[in-house]
Amino acid sequence: MSELDRRAGQAAVSGDWTYAPAPESREIVRLAERYGHFIGGAWVEASETYETISPASEETLAVVGQGTAADVDRAVAAAREAFENGWSTLPGSERAKYLFRIARLLQERSREFAVLESLNGGKPIKESRDVDLPLAAAHFFYYAGWADKLEYAFPNRRPRPIGVAGQIIPWNFPLLMLAWKVAPALACGNTVVLKPAETTPLTALLFCDVLRQAELPPGVVNIVTGDGRTGAALVEHEGVDKIAFTGSTEVGKAIQRRLAGTGKRLTLELGGKAANIVFDDCALDQAIEGIVNGIYFNQGHVCCAGSRLLVQESIYEPLVEKLKRRLSTLRVGDPLDKNTDVGAINSRLQLQKIEELVASGREEGAEIYQPPCRLPERGYWFAPTVFTNVAQSYRIAQEEIFGPVLSVLTFRTPDEAIEKANNTPYGLSAGVWTEKGSRILWMAQRLRAGVVWANTYNRFDPASPFGGYKESGFGREGGLHGLEPYLDFDDSETRGG
Ligand code: NDP
Repeated sequence: MSELDRRAGQAAVSGDWTYAPAPESREIVRLAERYGHFIGGAWVEASETYETISPASEETLAVVGQGTAADVDRAVAAAREAFENGWSTLPGSERAKYLFRIARLLQERSREFAVLESLNGGKPIKESRDVDLPLAAAHFFYYAGWADKLEYAFPNRRPRPIGVAGQIIPWNFPLLMLAWKVAPALACGNTVVLKPAETTPLTALLFCDVLRQAELPPGVVNIVTGDGRTGAALVEHEGVDKIAFTGSTEVGKAIQRRLAGTGKRLTLELGGKAANIVFDDCALDQAIEGIVNGIYFNQGHVCCAGSRLLVQESIYEPLVEKLKRRLSTLRVGDPLDKNTDVGAINSRLQLQKIEELVASGREEGAEIYQPPCRLPERGYWFAPTVFTNVAQSYRIAQEEIFGPVLSVLTFRTPDEAIEKANNTPYGLSAGVWTEKGSRILWMAQRLRAGVVWANTYNRFDPASPFGGYKESGFGREGGLHGLEPYLDFDDSETRGG
């Protein structure tokens, strides 16, 4: 008997193919019991506080500050002082050094950040480790490279920093959204007051330690934690020159109304209801992976998630069958387990919102499929879900669910696919699966979406601009385009900037 046969015989003993737990250790993270706000390069005691928890276990992780209008005022004053006393006039090559340092420190401490991101936000460790952290560092590297080349990026336009940027970010990619906002702002010579989301403040607070290690001058980045009231105080503050917001369309609209006529600059990155469009000539198994990645990545808490699947009628049945089979292999559970594919829902409130929309899908007549899976007893969980038999008018086909819930619709012709894909108030992203390059280009020209992925989904790169149309917002983040919202130009008046 050969060695191979012998091993095969031994392996056949067990029929149990379930995964053994592979937990990432939390030891690497040292949390303080209590955090204040990070203002002017130092910790400032918070007068009001709240507890931040782990959504997977509901345990309290730390007590953090609930920023008041007075805290925001202090932070804006510190940012203004730093802007005027050095940062805005520092040569770009010097600013770049700080950004490169921050990028390298994020790389060095990436495991610590990844564990904390998963603890506080509920996302699987393999995603925070392999996506959030590498991309956050890449954004700092990328914009470090631009800091001393702004004159070349915008020739004959004399680019200048704007001043103090107020930045408000959501809970789905806490550190990555911070990087998207802070890196271009600093590269252009602005200073920053950033408010993380209420449920996920901890990686932003750990980031303050990176700023200290990088010896960033005090006041260049200030972080004030708190809920929507803190965000509103930042929006209203007269000392802020620009607001950059990522979050819900509803709050984005309120901010736009509030800022109308104030002269403050604004960029909004809001919701989406992306169509992921699958033609019958696609590589089906590859498309299945793209569909799964499109909607179940980060529990579907993704503004550009492929939440509406448009399938060409001729392959509807085999596709849905393969999809259901693939769904049954997804592992839902402990975010710190390296085998986990779908982690915890970020908050009780978000879970309620998903449950409410899923109930509406059932009531309106869609057919629901959820693979058998045992959800943990504590924490906030929702099984990966597919709705078939969905009409365009159903709420689950119209509204952003922001959870692991896919709505499947069908089409016959490319024209019909375009009509259905564009039939939404949003316009952030879309996916196209076909083997024909000409069809990809034809579709991309007609899809009203800021990003169109072809034969892939949820690919991000700091060099590539990201942003929406219609109710998905305006302004671009990433790439050369991502610098513009943080700059004033000699010709701003004539261009309406
Ligand atoms: P919000 O739009 O409320 O939150 C985004 C950020 O804005 C958070 O930091 C939030 O603080 C802050 N904020 C809330 N109210 C105000 C205000 N009046 N003025 C200024 N800032 C404010 O999103 P939610 O977290 O409530 O999520 C609700 C829905 O929004 C989700 O179900 C999802 O559909 C969508 N969403 C979309 C995102 C995207 O990337 N496009 C990201 C997150 C959510 P706080 O954390 O305290 O609420």
